[in-house]
Amino acid sequence: MSGFEIYTFDAPVLRKKAKPVRRVNNTVRKQLDAMLETMREAAGVGLAAPQVGILKRMVVIDVGEGPYFLINPEIVSQSQETETKWEGCLSWPGYLGEVERPVKVCVKALDRDGREIWVEGEGLLARALCHELDHLDGVLFIDRAKSIIELQEDSFGEDQALSGVTCVFMGSPEFALPSLDQLVQAGADVRLVVTQPDRPYGRKKILTPTPVKQRALELGLEVFTPETISSPGAIERLKALEPDFIAVAAYGQKIPAQVLGLPKYACLNVHPSLLPKYRGGNPVQRQIMAGEQKSGVTIIYMSERMDAGDICLQKVLDVDPDETYGTLEQRLSVVGAEALVEAMCLVYTGSAARTPQNEEESTYAPHLKPGEELINWQASAEDIHNLVRALSPVPGAVTVFGSERTKIWRTKLLPSESYPFPADTVPGTILKAGDTMAVVRCGKGVIGVLEVQPAGKKTMPAKAFLAGRQDRETKFG
Ligand code: ZN
Repeated sequence: MSGFEIYTFDAPVLRKKAKPVRRVNNTVRKQLDAMLETMREAAGVGLAAPQVGILKRMVVIDVGEGPYFLINPEIVSQSQETETKWEGCLSWPGYLGEVERPVKVCVKALDRDGREIWVEGEGLLARALCHELDHLDGVLFIDRAKSIIELQEDSFGEDQALSGVTCVFMGSPEFALPSLDQLVQAGADVRLVVTQPDRPYGRKKILTPTPVKQRALELGLEVFTPETISSPGAIERLKALEPDFIAVAAYGQKIPAQVLGLPKYACLNVHPSLLPKYRGGNPVQRQIMAGEQKSGVTIIYMSERMDAGDICLQKVLDVDPDETYGTLEQRLSVVGAEALVEAMCLVYTGSAARTPQNEEESTYAPHLKPGEELINWQASAEDIHNLVRALSPVPGAVTVFGSERTKIWRTKLLPSESYPFPADTVPGTILKAGDTMAVVRCGKGVIGVLEVQPAGKKTMPAKAFLAGRQDRETKFG
């Protein structure tokens, strides 16, 4: 991400008067885009250029209607009527001030393309416009505040940030556990945990509760496992609880409109991708398969269309080039839990953003289809490496060696120039069987195969696998 650093507290730049923008050129547009990115990363609703050290009269605002880019903005009119509310500032993290602002303002400015626009703001938008325009004159909200309070340190996550907040939690697999744990730790009153019914598991078909059910019972929480959440009985039961929030993490059933509309504040969902990318049931494996270097979690206000709701906040993570589906999903589950608590705090205090998803940029992450686990050695080394790590620890990428079906669990990308091979070598051919790996030719490039698992046997290093087999066979696939 190409975001800026936000200047805080006593930084002198926050007290300077910004200069008008003379020409709306590409530099200005790039700065505006980076400001928007910075603001979103910080989960704010407005940001003025001086806050990132640029002394130009420019602000970005997004209170959920999509972004406004305002250049040389001026207030042309404002209502006599005012309201006094709490507001915060990205340059004064950890503080809220009680500030009187006009209920309505009208602002004239140039947009991102240098065209004149008029923005009429009411409520939160009016407040954000006044707040950000103040920044351009070196005025901070603390100058206008009737009172200032310091939020409790680290109020997100620990320290009972959600005490007094009631919620229903819906989730099923391992991925949902950190979210449930964090809600409880943050002091939320989890009135009910809704999870999928016990299912037969393993060869003996033993009825097994979901990981979420097990954890909920350990925590002493009430558990509800309806076959269908859209049944009248299930809806009635949730309704009677009158929750402030419904928090959802990989529940596994479509949630009907009557349930989405139940909570007093919001129905929030933790999704392990940077929406609108990778909507659907299998976002983490698909991101690794595609070789994404950035991943993240998105907290959305749930809507009836799967994963299409407005965005409340996003957290970005770097993906290690050798990272597997298992480790990435685990990291995302932890970051997702923190983001969920943070989002609930923001929504509860009325300071959350709400940004619609850009439909044109949306992509879909379907479940694996049979056959997708098979390694195609004609593919590039990179694609094969991505497939292997996307299918680890389940279900495993598959190839054949002779007549033997074998899973490949770990691979490594290698510099092709270090392993020259004759042009007529078939992809899949083992070029070299070393101590730590087998070097294999791919459609493009070469790959190191480190760990394999023949059907019905344990996982073993490639060397052990090849010992005694290589006289019969010299290629995979
Ligand atoms: Zn501010």
